[in-house]
Amino acid sequence: MKAVVFYGVGDIRITDAPDPKILQRNDAIVRLTASAICGTDLHMVRGTMPGMEPGTILGHEGVGVVEELGPDVRNLKAGDRVVIPSTIACGTCSYCRAGYFAQCDQANPNGPRAGTAFFGGPKTTGPFNGLQAERARVPYANVGLIKVPDEVSDEQAIMLSDIVPTGYFGADLADIKHGDTVAVFGCGPVGQFAIASAFLQGAARVLAVDTIASRLDMARTQGSEIIDFQAENPVQAILRLTGGIGVDRAIDAGRCRCHATTRRSSDDKTGVDISTRNRTDCPTDESSWRQLAPG
Ligand SMILES: [Zn+2]
Ligand SMILES: [Zn+2]
Repeated sequence: MKAVVFYGVGDIRITDAPDPKILQRNDAIVRLTASAICGTDLHMVRGTMPGMEPGTILGHEGVGVVEELGPDVRNLKAGDRVVIPSTIACGTCSYCRAGYFAQCDQANPNGPRAGTAFFGGPKTTGPFNGLQAERARVPYANVGLIKVPDEVSDEQAIMLSDIVPTGYFGADLADIKHGDTVAVFGCGPVGQFAIASAFLQGAARVLAVDTIASRLDMARTQGSEIIDFQAENPVQAILRLTGGIGVDRAIDAGRCRCHATTRRSSDDKTGVDISTRNRTDCPTDESSWRQLAPG
């Protein structure tokens, strides 16, 4: 089959890869009909998410059709259209049963403390071959795979693989109450879904901050009040638009690529004074990434 394969930092090729096979009783083989590129993939390509094994197939967002099932997948059948969630979880450990699927104790072969298992990531996340391929093996398919109704297109369903849940979770963590005024920083795909989720969760006003015109247009189409941080001071704009009070809730959907000086006092929990450190890109030490899920 054809797949997008990681050969090394800056060296990504569409090439032939071995067809996946059922390895465990709860595996599925899914024929991909849609796959997406995430900002997380760029970290592998650039080397800012280290530890990629050459030969790993990239991609963690997919929609497809079930081709083959292991004998312990009892809720699906060949031919079902499914969304493949980006993270992998067993569904039976205590964390999964409590709903913390990204903290699953069993899915990551590196052990229970290894962090989130996901498709197409570095060795510390599995590694599992990813979804930018004609076919993929999906472990714990009885738990992970979500059936797609006929009236939902591949292009709609693919959003549910990673980007909608990421934005929704951001709004959920913000604990939005009915009538709240919410600021969303960053209006890329995750930010757009954070905006939609904020309204869905009861926000009365959303102040959307970005500087790219097309993103701000889309945010305004959703009903947000837009702020271009290059055209004006965003803090002053937020204060002016909120009667000098500020917002009730804030969601950072801008990822971690930052160019401003990071200022933090020496009493943060690391005990390290980084008040003068200039961060110009994401952390490259592996430990910083271990607990991160895609999105
Ligand atoms: Zn689990
Ligand atoms: Zn993603």
